[in-house]
Amino acid sequence: MNAVRSWIKSLLLVELFQGLALTGKLFFARKVTIRYPEEHTPKSPRYRGLHAQRRYANGEERCIACKLCEAVCPALAITIDSEQREDGTRRTTRYDIDLFKCIYCGFCEEACPVDAIVETSITEFHFEKRGEQIMTKEKLLSIGDKYEAQIAAERAADAPYR
Ligand code: SF4
Ligand code: SF4
Repeated sequence: MNAVRSWIKSLLLVELFQGLALTGKLFFARKVTIRYPEEHTPKSPRYRGLHAQRRYANGEERCIACKLCEAVCPALAITIDSEQREDGTRRTTRYDIDLFKCIYCGFCEEACPVDAIVETSITEFHFEKRGEQIMTKEKLLSIGDKYEAQIAAERAADAPYR
């Protein structure tokens, strides 16, 4: 019986017309696809992407080498060395984040008392050589310098919900 039903369906092209009906219906429906990378979907100001280290407006780095981020990181992705400067303040001499270990949980930025380490909404980054996944202090600061306006705007947008 099933074989007969299948034969009749094939003869009458039932499945073909069903497919065409679905195509016709979706042809006029609202499009949900985007043309990446030219187009992007909106991101939350809380989006946790590539890390950055921030500076104050006078150019001084924010990080005070308290190591709270290193202590809280569940992936043990952060490595910090520090020393005291001549003016008595403490600063990092090494601040590395291994992005192969990082799980983008955001705990480091939550723990930071001076808003120094942040996760930006940058998602388009890649590595071509072994070792490039280590985000050094210099790399993190340069990302912070480049995207400070965007970082500040995103944190201001998120501030009322904290
Ligand atoms: S986002 Fe999470 S896993 Fe990544 S460095 Fe920060 S605390 Fe560690
Ligand atoms: S980034 Fe923030 S939490 Fe981490 S060592 Fe620097 S000041 Fe402390």
